[in-house]
Amino acid sequence: MAPGDRLVVTAEHGGCRVPARLVGRFRGRRAWLESHRGHDPGSLVLARALARAFGATLVATTVSRLVVETNRSPGHPALFSAATRGLPHAEKEWLLARYYRPHRQRAEQAIRRALETGARVVHLAVHTFTPVLDGAVRRADVGLLYDPKRAGERRLSIAWQRALGHSAPELRARRNYPYRGTADGLTTFFRRRFSTPRYLGIELEVNQRFPAGPGAPWRALRAVLIDSLAAALGETARRAPHSRRRRRGNSIQPLLRNISSSTTATTSMSTRKNG
Ligand SMILES: [Zn+2]
Repeated sequence: MAPGDRLVVTAEHGGCRVPARLVGRFRGRRAWLESHRGHDPGSLVLARALARAFGATLVATTVSRLVVETNRSPGHPALFSAATRGLPHAEKEWLLARYYRPHRQRAEQAIRRALETGARVVHLAVHTFTPVLDGAVRRADVGLLYDPKRAGERRLSIAWQRALGHSAPELRARRNYPYRGTADGLTTFFRRRFSTPRYLGIELEVNQRFPAGPGAPWRALRAVLIDSLAAALGETARRAPHSRRRRRGNSIQPLLRNISSSTTATTSMSTRKNG
């Protein structure tokens, strides 16, 4: 990572825990909670790996998004789910104070502190997506979500996609897919909060068939994402005229063969599971 770069990693959908006082509300809804509707399987593991690799602050929420949705802006109709929307005002206020605001305030503080150093700050919001949503098959393994109007985010995302294609040609990496980077979410909220172009909000989306599949390809994907992000950061660094630091011929290659074979192997399984 270039000396002028700081990374902040967040995971809004890291788990599907339910606070003890709300257990009754979720009785009989365990399958819902544990599905992709209740959390992003694998996102916490991936977020931890990225934070560790780049020495970044990690801000993660492990309470289910069906309890309170930390990836929606204040006042958004989807802030509470069918299970929590009908709660008394005081209970909702407790959820906001206990889970929602702390997540967003911690992320904001970490980003603000990093910006104060004069660095380019890359906020990576880590998510995973279900391979099949409402019968529609998602045709990507990795999605990089950003605001196309922001040059810094666009350049980094293009460089990251290119680096991924270079080190893992079998991987289908797409930009602003399966969602648009400008849809409501924490990065969209912070783009308004931090007017400086030194704030780069990128949402990383990974197909859940990797965390749902065998361990080796999932580990290999995490390594590839770290390696390609390091290359993309180097390539787009602000104060590094000779910054093309793409790593080649390293130990990633053998692992990639595992990814491509198991990607094919797990497709039908994932489709059955989620369809
Ligand atoms: Zn998510």
